[in-house]
Amino acid sequence: MDLQGKNILVVGLARTGVAVTRFLAERGAHLTVTDMRDEEQLASVLEQLKDLDINYELGRHSAHTFLMAELIVVSPGVPMDLKPLAMAVAQGRRVVSEVELASWFIEAPIVAITGTNGKTTTTTLTGEIFRHCGFDTFVGGNIGNPLIELAASGERVDRVVVELSSFQLEGIESFRPNVAVLLNITEDHLDRYETYQEYIDAKLRIFENQRAEDFAVLNIDDPLVAACAPRLKARVFPMSRQKELEEGIWYQEGFITFSFQGKVLRFGTDGIRLKGVHNLDNIMASLASTLLMRCEGECAYAAVTSFKGLPHRMEFVTEQNGVAWYEDSKGTNVGSVVKSLESFPGGITLIAGGKDKGGSYEPLAPLVQERVSHLILIGEAKERMNEALGALTDTHLATTLAEAVSTARAVTKSGGIVLFSPACSSFDMFRDYEDRALQYRALVLSGDSEGDK
Ligand code: ADP
Repeated sequence: MDLQGKNILVVGLARTGVAVTRFLAERGAHLTVTDMRDEEQLASVLEQLKDLDINYELGRHSAHTFLMAELIVVSPGVPMDLKPLAMAVAQGRRVVSEVELASWFIEAPIVAITGTNGKTTTTTLTGEIFRHCGFDTFVGGNIGNPLIELAASGERVDRVVVELSSFQLEGIESFRPNVAVLLNITEDHLDRYETYQEYIDAKLRIFENQRAEDFAVLNIDDPLVAACAPRLKARVFPMSRQKELEEGIWYQEGFITFSFQGKVLRFGTDGIRLKGVHNLDNIMASLASTLLMRCEGECAYAAVTSFKGLPHRMEFVTEQNGVAWYEDSKGTNVGSVVKSLESFPGGITLIAGGKDKGGSYEPLAPLVQERVSHLILIGEAKERMNEALGALTDTHLATTLAEAVSTARAVTKSGGIVLFSPACSSFDMFRDYEDRALQYRALVLSGDSEGDK
């Protein structure tokens, strides 16, 4: 793709937008950059780009700017239904996401991972396995480094592992992963999509450009994921925790089995440190992707057993007076909280709530009834959650996280578990999910010192 002299518009100037802008400028594109934030808010970003000759449209988006562009590159945080974008698309302008742009300049085989939950864990573990097996690997996308940074560096790597959100997938044209993984689909982001079907369709675009020699790793225990199998051009490589397969990867009674073209590998799960049934899915997806891309079984398994997981996903915080406190601030939707609750047999005090994303809380009902002894609700979503779940168990509404933690402390008996797994995003009361996690931990740990007094 020759970018020299092309009129290109970059939408959004966060980390990815800056990297895209620099990449395009270095290739001689004629650039305009737009962001709803104004010059003052973007001062430090503009400083980084001051050596480049760029037209800026800041603090607003005008239709004219969008229509003048031959190509529009959209940053991951920018919704595709943004008015001027939707209009540009309607008028036939070419609009792509950063991942699409980057993929034009990347030659290494790509493993792309999507799903409602488990993306970051699976992407990180897949990268670790490749590296452990001696492949020089770039890991990025929705986590950490944007893919464009690899394209910009001109570095040659052996493998690329990329986490993709539904938003990034909406802006692809020719992006074609050698292995595409779909972990699961449950309701999420209904505040950004008109319908659940639109969200599902965006996720399925990961397979759109694959060919017969590529692989689609599908979690066939998830009915929505399984249903898409017949329509795919790629070779389907199924994974399951429920059934034995002829070809694919599956879990049964303490063993993961990988079977492909007559080769069968078996891995015991006893030595694995990642806990929770959902992590078996993440491990199987990572093993399948790497074994299909030339990693040796023994070496891949060694990387799996040494992987400890990521922060803010079902992390054990401390034990106080016989009560174990867990932090799962990354449990930002109902599907992930279902998995977190499934990881404990019962006696759970669940602290949940936050910014409501508009989905249904009903899928939590059976587990709340069966395993949650006390439910403590916070944030914007607390009333709606209370309507859906409040009658099923002993339920308390709290105004602050501090109040929620002290209520949890008061009601949870020795031998019980306190789990903070919000099922919501954090933006009503906190900066982000990490801030929420740190505040929770501080509140919980302050109980350690109280106990010492
Ligand atoms: P993502 O990047 O998709 O948000 P993460 O790996 O960061 O996923 O995990 C986020 C949360 O989702 C975890 O805290 C856990 O509760 C839940 N989770 C992780 N893996 C899975 C999975 N395979 N299926 C369902 N829920 C999962």
